[in-house]
Amino acid sequence: MNLDQATPEQLQQWEAELANQYQSLQDQSLNLDLTRGKPSAEQLNLSDALDGILDGDYRAADGTDVRNYGGLDGIQEAKQFAADVLQVNTSEVLVGGNSSLTLMFQTVLFAHEFGLQGADSAWKTQGKVKFLCPVPGYDRHFTVCEQLGIDMVTVPMLSTGPDMDQVEAMIKADPQIVGMWCVPKYSNPTGVVYSDETVERIAQLANIANPYFRVFWDNAYAVHDLVENPPELANIMDACRKHNTEDSVLQFASTSKITHAGSGVCFMAASPANLAGFQQVLASCTIGPDKVNQLRHARLLPDMTALRAHMKKHAAIIQPRFNSVLENLSSAFDGTGLGTWETPVGGYFISFDTLPGCAQAVVKLAADAGVKLTPAGATFPYGKDPQDRNIRLAPTVPTVEEVDQAMKVFEVCVKLASVRSKLAA
Ligand code: PMP
Repeated sequence: MNLDQATPEQLQQWEAELANQYQSLQDQSLNLDLTRGKPSAEQLNLSDALDGILDGDYRAADGTDVRNYGGLDGIQEAKQFAADVLQVNTSEVLVGGNSSLTLMFQTVLFAHEFGLQGADSAWKTQGKVKFLCPVPGYDRHFTVCEQLGIDMVTVPMLSTGPDMDQVEAMIKADPQIVGMWCVPKYSNPTGVVYSDETVERIAQLANIANPYFRVFWDNAYAVHDLVENPPELANIMDACRKHNTEDSVLQFASTSKITHAGSGVCFMAASPANLAGFQQVLASCTIGPDKVNQLRHARLLPDMTALRAHMKKHAAIIQPRFNSVLENLSSAFDGTGLGTWETPVGGYFISFDTLPGCAQAVVKLAADAGVKLTPAGATFPYGKDPQDRNIRLAPTVPTVEEVDQAMKVFEVCVKLASVRSKLAA
């Protein structure tokens, strides 16, 4: 099927054939869902030993009774876990409650209202400020900005990470840009791992940016590999140390997709100056995090060897689902020009770009055939994909058979929407 070379008669004929196929899919009354970036029950089961693991022993290694108040930045063994995942020093870590999104929201809020390095550093003193948002990206990052009244400017994601030529040019030209969202490993949704060069250039942005510019390095998928010998993400903090820009990067992650998604442990890594600024405000929000849960996690996953073995079990569950999506995309669209996608080897998503102007139509067709997809536009600030192309596929929750069925529907919907848009042009 080559739409560009097709005659109007051919297009009409394809449309009729695809509409027929679509009708028979509709007749099956399917009820499938590829919308959710969350672990399946089978994955959650892997961590059920958390329940009762302390068995009455509430003492952290340093003797702290974790049931009591205090310890604003977390217990030592949880800090060690976080430091191992993010490859930083334990002195650069704060361990919080169950959600890294909360930590990110708080950090943006504190930086805006109070400043991470004294009142003069508060972004609000600078009028309307902006964040750079690589797109497609994670919708909840965008909602943080929207909620706090921070404008968003977009920059395209390439297979190496954000387009750094554009990032540098925009940051140089506009001192109102005070932040940038990054999901550097198995990016949500493209699955891209930032190249070494991209990491190196991000570590140098502070040299050309607003003095209080901060990169929000959301490494949510740091250990979520699906293959042996996974790609390695260069160490951003080491790069910052080399360029004397340690204050410009704030890192985040959590165990949400390692243990129990709703009751994991989140953490951030930052320079001592940033951590101190953050904790100063945090101290008026809480007396301390849930240290009992931190200790439970440290007991379940005491070191990187245990963590790696645990993540292999996740991979064994997720990988067949990813394979199903990727095999279906390949067999349906290779060489057709009807869509493009990356082939992620980790994370939770596969991102598909349709021909311009087709994504909303595909999502609607799929929904009407019983296959729920993430709303088109969700991967862009304000829910608006200017080219109406991007669709995020999240295959972890359905069974492999369901993913396969859903992808067969997806194929027909993409083809039908593409042919119809060509006919309408
Ligand atoms: N960051 C990214 C990139 C995510 O994809 C997700 C989950 N979808 C989160 C953060 C949320 O993490 P948490 O559960 O720790 O709030």
